[in-house]
Amino acid sequence: MKKIILATGNLGKVRELSAMLNGHYSVVSQKEMLVEEVPETGSSFIENALIKARNAASQTGLPAIADDSGLEVNALGGEPGIYSARYAGEGASDEENLNKILINMEHHDNRRAHFCCAMVFVKSAEDSNPIIVERRWKGEILREPIGSNGFGYDPIFYLKELDCSSAQLEPEVKNKISHRGLALNDLLKELIDVG
Ligand code: IMP
Repeated sequence: MKKIILATGNLGKVRELSAMLNGHYSVVSQKEMLVEEVPETGSSFIENALIKARNAASQTGLPAIADDSGLEVNALGGEPGIYSARYAGEGASDEENLNKILINMEHHDNRRAHFCCAMVFVKSAEDSNPIIVERRWKGEILREPIGSNGFGYDPIFYLKELDCSSAQLEPEVKNKISHRGLALNDLLKELIDVG
């Protein structure tokens, strides 16, 4: 089986993505390979994903997959967007980030939001023709957290069609329908197409 490096330091994501790639590729996380992380200096999810994938490929010599994702809230003009992981400040916890959303959304009736995930594959650090996909997962911002699965903003992300938060979904269910699941499916199709 072909080896691929997954360029993320987030353990929740490593678990989700490894499960989805299982059987197709042998996945090594960049943590296992002691890859030094680079600052995410891009101004879009796609730019940040490319920065991370090229960095992991350059330090390991392996093809790399990277994703960059975040929550975009309509009433907050798309915030926190690419700053989702550090919305309440550098090193902020999931709970602090989520509470900042709840406070900023207190007086808003428009609760619409979506998660966005850009996912890229590079054959090497210099790959001039990377595979790039981007997918969204629509929901609404709850007024208080509910559920204990998942990570990040899951406890305040309400899914109308399932009448629950994304933190109340079993991981296998979330993996199939989430922004990351959809993006990875698209990416896998492209990867299989190009062989
Ligand atoms: P990244 O590691 O730069 O992609 O930052 C992603 C951040 O967006 C995470 O730290 C979470 O705060 C948020 N996020 C992305 N995907 C999800 C998800 O599936 N559930 C909850 N929060 C998410």
